[in-house]
Amino acid sequence: MERRHQVVVVGAGPAGLNAAKYAANAGCDVALIDSGKRLGGQYWRHTGVQDFDQSLHDDFDSASLLVDAVRANPRITICSDTSIWSASILDEQIILRTKNGAFITQRLVLATGAYDRTIPFPGWDIPGVMTAGAAQSLLKGSGVIAGKKIVVAGTGPFLLPVAAALSTHGAESVELYEATPWNAWLSQLHILLQNPSKIFGALGYFKTLRNNKVKMQYHSAVVAAHADDSGLLKSVTVAKIDSNYKVLSEREVPCDVVAISYGFTPDIALAASLSLKAKVASDGSTFIEVDAEQRATTLDAKYQIFAAGELTGVGGSDLALVEGAIAGLAAAGSSQNKKTLLKLRRRSARFAQALLKVYPVPNGWKGWLKNDTTICRCEEVDYQEFLEAGQVLGASDARTMKLMTRCGMGMCQGRICSRNIFDLLQSSEEDRIRGSQRPIITPITLGELAQEGLL
Ligand SMILES: Cc1cc2nc3c(=O)[nH]c(=O)nc-3n(C[C@H](O)[C@H](O)[C@H](O)COP(=O)(O)OP(=O)(O)OC[C@H]3O[C@@H](n4cnc5c(N)ncnc54)[C@H](O)[C@@H]3O)c2cc1C
Repeated sequence: MERRHQVVVVGAGPAGLNAAKYAANAGCDVALIDSGKRLGGQYWRHTGVQDFDQSLHDDFDSASLLVDAVRANPRITICSDTSIWSASILDEQIILRTKNGAFITQRLVLATGAYDRTIPFPGWDIPGVMTAGAAQSLLKGSGVIAGKKIVVAGTGPFLLPVAAALSTHGAESVELYEATPWNAWLSQLHILLQNPSKIFGALGYFKTLRNNKVKMQYHSAVVAAHADDSGLLKSVTVAKIDSNYKVLSEREVPCDVVAISYGFTPDIALAASLSLKAKVASDGSTFIEVDAEQRATTLDAKYQIFAAGELTGVGGSDLALVEGAIAGLAAAGSSQNKKTLLKLRRRSARFAQALLKVYPVPNGWKGWLKNDTTICRCEEVDYQEFLEAGQVLGASDARTMKLMTRCGMGMCQGRICSRNIFDLLQSSEEDRIRGSQRPIITPITLGELAQEGLL
C-alpha cells in the first residue's frame, strides 16, 4: 500500500507533535508517524494512559493540550505503532517504508529524538542494571517501579526527575550519584539566570529528594555492578572520582536496581539513511545540521527534509517544541511568527550549549574497564576481544571493528555501544558519521521485507 501526503512527520514527541500541528494549521495535509502506540515521544510517554498520576509530570497540561490539538485536527492523519524501517529517494520523492506499506512525500520533517547514553563498566550487563530512561519509562508508561533499593547514577539534569519520581512512587530507598561537581553550573550561571523555569524546576526536584531522604553525592560514579548467586544485581561499587573520572576511592552499596544515564545520543539513523548532512558535537555525538528554518542539507533540492528536536543536538523538550514549530511552518511554506520563534529557539539553544559544558563525560571511564567487561551487550563482545581486534587484526575504525568482532551488529543496531566504540577507538569525525549510517533502521522480519509491491 502507498500513501501520499503533502507533509510527513516522523516522530510524535514534542518536536514532531508541534511540527504536525503547525504544518496542518498552515493548510497542509499531514501524516504523523510514530513507532510508539501513544503520542508523546519519550518525554510525554504518559499521554493517553488512564488514571495517569499527574504529579509525575510538571507540564502535564501543556502535553495534554498539544496532543489533544493534534488528535482533533482533521488535516492530521495519525499513524501510531508504525516504524519506518528504511527510507530512500526515488524519482525525487521521499519513500518511507513500514510493515504496512510505504509513505511518499516531497516534504518530510524528521523528529526521531534521542536515546539514552550509557557507558560500560564491569557488570553493566547484569539484570537489574538499566538506563535511567528505562526506569523512568517503566514508571511513566506502565506505572511500574523498577526495584526497591535503587541507585541512580551518571551525569546530567535528567538524574533529578528520575530519582525524584522513583523516590515518590514507592521505592524503599533511592541514592543519587552525580559524576559532576555540585558547583559545575557556576561557569554558566548567566545562562541559568536567563532560564528561571529551569532553576525553579531543579529546586522542586531538590526539595522532593530532601523530603524523601534521597542521599545525593557529587563527584561519584557507579564503576562496577555485582550479581548474587542467582545472577541478579545485589550491589554496586560507587567510587569517588576526579574530574577526568579517575577512581580515587571505592565502596560497595547494596541495591536491586541501578539506573544509569550519561545524557542522550541523537537518533540520526533515519536521517543518515537519507544522506542528510551530519556533524559531530563537542561531546562526540553525531547530529543533523540544519539551517535557520530547520532545513537539512539534502543531495537534491527537488525535495525538502527538515529536522527538529533531539536529532539536531540534544537540548530538551523546550528546544524540541520550538524547533518543531519552525520546521512545521517551513515545511508548509509559511513564515508566520518566525521572529518570535527564532528568538525562543536562540534562548533554548544557548541553554543546550551550556548543558554540554556543565556535564562533560571525560575519557577516564576507560580506566573502569577490565578485560572481561562486555563492550557490546547484544553480541557479547568483551574488552579483551575488542583490544585484540585492534592490536592483532588492525581494526582501527568502527566498521572494521564490527566486521572483526561483530560489536555493534546486534539487535540494538549499535544504539547502545557504538558511541562507546567510537570513544574507545578515538574515532575521527568522518568515522563517527559513517558509522551512523545503516540501511535498515529497525530490525524487521523476512515477511515484512518480502511485502508485495514494496517500493
Ligand atoms: C528514554 C528517555 C526518557 C526521557 N525522559 C525524559 C524526562 O522524563 N524528562 C525530560 O525532560 N526529558 C526526558 N527525555 C529527554 C527527551 O527525549 C527530550 O527532551 C524530548 O522528548 C525530545 O523530544 P523529541 O520530539 O526531539 O524526541 P522524542 O520525544 O524522543 O520523540 C521521538 C519519537 O520518534 C519516534 N521514532 C524514532 N525513530 C522512528 C522510526 N524509525 N519510525 C517511527 N518513529 C520513530 C520515537 O518512537 C519517538 O516517539 C528522555 C529521553 C529518553 C531517551
